Amino acid sequence: MSTALVIGSGIVGLSAAWHLLRRGWQVVVVDQSAIGSGASYGNAGLVSIGHPPLTRPGLALQGIKWMLDPTSPLYIQPRASMALVRWLATFHRNCTRTHLHHCMDVLCDMGWPARDCFEELLAAEPIDCDYRRGGWLEVCLTKAGLERGRHEADAVRERGYHVELLERDALLAREPAFRPAVAGAHWYADSACCSPDAFMRGLARACVKRGAVLRAATGARGFLVEGNRLRGAVTEDGHQLEADAVVLAAGAWSTPIAAQLGVAIPMEPAKGYHEDLEGVAPAPTVGCVLAETFVAVTPMFGRLRLAGTLELSGLNDRMVQRRLGMLRRGAERFLIGLDRARRAAVWNGLRPCTPDGLPIAGLAPGFDNLYVATGGAMLGWTLGPLMGRLAAETLNGEAPRWDAAPLAPSRFARG
Ligand SMILES: Cc1cc2nc3c(=O)[nH]c(=O)nc-3n(C[C@H](O)[C@H](O)[C@H](O)COP(=O)(O)OP(=O)(O)OC[C@H]3O[C@@H](n4cnc5c(N)ncnc54)[C@H](O)[C@@H]3O)c2cc1C
Repeated sequence: MSTALVIGSGIVGLSAAWHLLRRGWQVVVVDQSAIGSGASYGNAGLVSIGHPPLTRPGLALQGIKWMLDPTSPLYIQPRASMALVRWLATFHRNCTRTHLHHCMDVLCDMGWPARDCFEELLAAEPIDCDYRRGGWLEVCLTKAGLERGRHEADAVRERGYHVELLERDALLAREPAFRPAVAGAHWYADSACCSPDAFMRGLARACVKRGAVLRAATGARGFLVEGNRLRGAVTEDGHQLEADAVVLAAGAWSTPIAAQLGVAIPMEPAKGYHEDLEGVAPAPTVGCVLAETFVAVTPMFGRLRLAGTLELSGLNDRMVQRRLGMLRRGAERFLIGLDRARRAAVWNGLRPCTPDGLPIAGLAPGFDNLYVATGGAMLGWTLGPLMGRLAAETLNGEAPRWDAAPLAPSRFARG
């Protein structure tokens, strides 16, 4: 029986484990922290297929204006880091129309198998995660916002997705949670949403039931290398875990881990926050993104999650109250039911962001049994189950059902 070591127990790592287990592999998953406690624990839960990447024309310039304003949706904390300077330079070069078209072709093509992977998992395992296949709404306060959204909607529609414009009255008839002051919304009908922590708990249980060993609070800190093969890893508690294949799925932490092996994975962690509210009435019935304030709003088991903000401040979990407060302020401009809402939880997490807006999935250059699967950024929840399947198919010697060539980690190999 073949054995695999999965580093990282987020949506990508546990999905890879699940698909390997189904192929008869013996799997050990290690995590430096609690199982499923990374970005996959507290994100907005939108399975937003066909969504554009972060690299967009105009964003580089806008980003420079936002950079030094700690209350802007995208904040780059000034710090002396050559890696950050290089990342920003590459990001800037990729904020072109041509590159956006390329990313849209790839991400829209990934969207359908990505949703199938979610639904395949939910059909095979008893996971109650309030999964709603009702699409998501991009809601705008202003006509100008709706007009800007129209370009994005056209690009997604051209690639085969169903997107509808809802004028204000149609939106309010459907979602009375919104203030009459909103201008309208685009409805991305093919998407879904769910409670990520409930999904992660269910997926972890399913992996254990299928025979996986999940080891929390003991991350990988060194590797056993033999030529172009990894023999396994050494964990923080001093154990040597040997395996026929290794999946590196450590989210925003993957960069320093891969660097130990000489593999370049240039990512920056982008911090985001959530605040869960109880007692919101009326609440939206599907996931929404509030366009002008960049806040995602998702119903989950009777609570409403506000999530968002993007902060490049390195690998840390510092809670900045001013940025957390932006969520409630940003949502109140759109929604009527928040005045009597009670705060139920707050959290922050790190999105693993590549400088070219595409995830990373493929064998690491120089290794024939190390699969790198990370870099999902704002779409990492949506794409996680598919990235896990790609890892399992490749390591099991199958031709992946979706061609992941555009995501190959070799695109960052030092020349
Ligand atoms: C506020 C917010 C809202 C978001 N909303 C959405 C959304 O609506 N839709 C969407 O598609 N995406 C969303 N995302 C992005 C998404 O959450 C992430 O891209 C995705 O969860 C990343 O999954 P992952 O498995 O790659 O990483 P993670 O879930 O971060 O998991 C990585 C794991 O690796 C572990 N690890 C680190 N170092 C080691 C080590 N040395 N050894 C072992 N383990 C290690 C970590 O502890 C962690 O558990 C959001 C993110 C945030 C922050």
